[in-house]
Order: sequence, then structure tokens, then C-alpha cells
Amino acid sequence: MSTNIDKNKDEFQELQAQWASVRGKIRRKIGDALFKSWFKPLSLVSYDSGVIVLSVSNSFQRTRLIEEYHDLIKSQWKEQNSKIKSIEIKLVKNNREIINKKVDGPTLNSNKIKTNISPKISADLDKRFTFTNFIVGKPNELAFAAAIRVAESKKVPFNPLFLYGGVGLGKTHLMHAIAHEIKRRNPERRVIYLSAEKFMYHFIKALRFKDTVAFKEQFRTVDVLMIDDVQFISGKDSTQEEFFHTFNALVDQNRQLIISADKSPQDLEGIEERMRSRLGWGLVADIHPLNYELRLSILQAKEEKLQVNVPQNVLEFLAHKITTNVRELEGALNRISAFSSLVGKEINIEMTHDLLRDLLRSSQKKVNIEQIQKKVSEHFNVKMSDMSSARRSRTIARPRQIAMYLSKNLTSRSLPEIGRRFGNRDHTTVIHAVRKVEELRNKDLSFDEDVELLIRMLES
Ligand code: ADP
Ligand code: MG
Repeated sequence: MSTNIDKNKDEFQELQAQWASVRGKIRRKIGDALFKSWFKPLSLVSYDSGVIVLSVSNSFQRTRLIEEYHDLIKSQWKEQNSKIKSIEIKLVKNNREIINKKVDGPTLNSNKIKTNISPKISADLDKRFTFTNFIVGKPNELAFAAAIRVAESKKVPFNPLFLYGGVGLGKTHLMHAIAHEIKRRNPERRVIYLSAEKFMYHFIKALRFKDTVAFKEQFRTVDVLMIDDVQFISGKDSTQEEFFHTFNALVDQNRQLIISADKSPQDLEGIEERMRSRLGWGLVADIHPLNYELRLSILQAKEEKLQVNVPQNVLEFLAHKITTNVRELEGALNRISAFSSLVGKEINIEMTHDLLRDLLRSSQKKVNIEQIQKKVSEHFNVKMSDMSSARRSRTIARPRQIAMYLSKNLTSRSLPEIGRRFGNRDHTTVIHAVRKVEELRNKDLSFDEDVELLIRMLES
């Protein structure tokens, strides 16, 4: 991948990080209540040669922020980044910018764009699905980098861009973000975004009204065509045929195609071979299941936007327990914050437990100690019997510790019970194992990934 995207991506993440830290400092300085009223609604829009642009949707808030807090924001930000020269706060209302002193240059947020692109066929875009709102971590960094590249390139960098991953991991979000950014850079460009189902629906309607010429005509002048969830056309032969022709025609004219699916082109079922191979021609970027770190960053980012305060330990609890996808994380957070603001209570772990009982149960498959021991032995190629043996060489002791750690975290067994199941060991041995594994997970990235992988295999 070129250094150019890496540079943009780095800069982007860097600014997000600076903004997060500026907000953290201000929050500590002015206290939660004031922070929530004035800073939560404020978001980072762009940065260009020393000028940071922030936006807010309420003019009263804007005036107040400028009068009371402008200098504070500026001085805090300067501490983070000496290149910052000024801070501007603009008003963005109903999705459109009203007061805007200077927003030339690379804008990170596309909230001001009208989203009714190509009204005839394109579906609406969600204005919240921007690059700014997309939190990047290891599991989605390739997909994110590829999306940025497509959005920023004047030429077609790879065709198609094929994004795939499980449900709720951000495919649609990234596609909308690309569309917003392309339109922001050049409003003249025609972008069509639609789900594969909608494509099929329009096509079948066209067939019925014997109007396939008009159907095709809609795509003829498009610059960028995005089809979401292409797995839905599997087995639908005539739609696939039509899609294949549209696809080829657009690729031949050097128009950008962006496709998403729940599986890689090779693994998509019910798709013709020629289609499958064609889909894999460009760049295939997958979004992996989220790791703990990314789950926590997403929760922190979403928490900032809420009206209520969610303590850090609750966020960590959620990030541990809800491993499926971002949609479920969002759902959990919304549910506890709605409850807390309705009953006017502070959020705590106990409340979270109660409110999310159903979610917490469904997002985890029940595993038992024996399954953990079996999976861990297989994974590290040691004998199942060594899980309870007295042998203490590192190659055996480490997997055993990992299995104890997983038993503590994935089952509801007590420490003494776990000790007993591992060759009648004392519960302090289990505590030691849990601490050791936690320590290694924090220190050693590849170790951490290994454990994460085991958890994923056990829970799915
Ligand atoms: P998919 O299309 O892969 O099923 P979506 O793009 O619809 O998933 O994402 C589901 C929800 O999770 C959306 O509200 C989206 O904004 C949010 N989301 C997904 N990934 C991220 C991310 N990395 N950062 C922030 N929000 C995300
Ligand atoms: Mg989707």
C-alpha cells in the first residue's frame, strides 16, 4: 500500500487521538456537568495548515463555546500539537453548514453534504457513517485504508474494491463514508449506492415493464457504483447475469466498483464461477471480528456522544462481554444510557448486568472447562492429560495457564473448582495463572492475538 494512504490514515488517527486527549483534559478541568453540556455536542471536522475546525449544531452553544472555551481548547490543543495556529467553531445545522469561515482543504467529516445522490436509484446515505466516525483498529485497518484510498484517488486504484466481513462490522458504514467523501471532494461525480436486493428489485421491475434499457441507462453514466451485501444475489441467476454485464461494462469504462459481502469471493456460494473470479480481481479487503481493544475504543467514542456518563469500568465490562459486533455494542450502550436517563440513576456494573441479561447470554455460547482444555491442548499441540498432570515445563505449563485463564473468564466456575479440574491444584495457582496471562496479553501482541483467537473459536 502506498505511503500516501498510510500518511493520511496516520494523520487522521493522530488528530482523532489529539482531540480525544484535549477533551479528556478539558473534562477534568471543568467537570463532567459542564463538559457534557458544552463539549459533548462538539465534533472535529477538519484540519488544514494549522487550522482546526470543530462543529456544533446549536447556535447558542456555538456562541457560548466561542466566548467561554475557545482559548481553553486552543491552549490545550497547542500542548498536544505545536503546529496548531487557530481553532474555528462552525455551525452545522440540518446536515448543512451555515456559518463557515474557512473549511477549504481536506475535511475529515462530510456532515455538510446533501445525501440525495442520484435520486432515481441510489439509496439514501446515513450521514453518521463518515470516516470521522469510523474507529480504526487492527481488525479493520486494511478495509479502512482501502476505503480512504478509493475515496481520495482521482484514478481508479483497484477495481473492484471488495469488502467482506461478518454482520455488523462496518461494511455499510465504510461504503457510505466513501460516498460522502467522494461527493465532498467533487459534487459532480455520480455515485450510486444500493443493496444487492434493491438492485435485484429494480431489475425485476424493469423486466416486468420491459424497460431494461432504461434500467441499464441509469448505470451508464455512473462514476462509482456500490453494491452492498452482494451475497443476496446468490442463486438468483437472471439478476446475477445482469449484474455481471453491468459490472463488466463499468470496469471496461474504468468506473469504480465497490462491492461488499459477508464472505470472500471464493467462499460466496451460489455465484457463478466467472463472477466469482471477476469479483476477486481488484483489492479484496476483509474486516476481522473485533478484538477487545477495538471494542473498547468504539464504546468510548460512542459514549462521548451520549448525554449520560458511562463509567470506564462499565465500558470495559461491555467490551469484554459483548464480542459479536458493533451493532450489539451500540445497542447495549443505548439501552443502559436510556434507562439511566429515564430513572435518573448513575450507571454502574450491577445495573448493566440486570439490563443486559438477555444480550449477555445470547452473545456467548456456553463453554465448559473440558472443552476449553481440549481446544487449548489441540491449539498448542500438547496432550489433554497434561492439563491435569504435574509436569511443569514451560511448553506445558503455559498452555495450562491459558486454559485456566479461559476457564475463569468463559465459565462461571469458581477458582477452587477450576483448580480441582486441573489436577487438583490450589485456587492460588489459578489466580497466579490468570494474572500471568493477563500480564502477557498486555505485553505481547502476538500472545494476545493467540488468546483472542482461542476465545473466538470457543465462543463461536
Ligand atoms: P455491516 O454493514 O458490516 O453489517 P454496518 O456498517 O451496518 O455493518 O455497522 C453496524 C453499526 O456499527 C453501524 O451503526 C456502524 O456505524 C457501526 N460501526 C461499525 N464499525 C464501526 C467502527 N469501526 N467505528 C464506529 N462505528 C462502527
Ligand atoms: Mg451492511
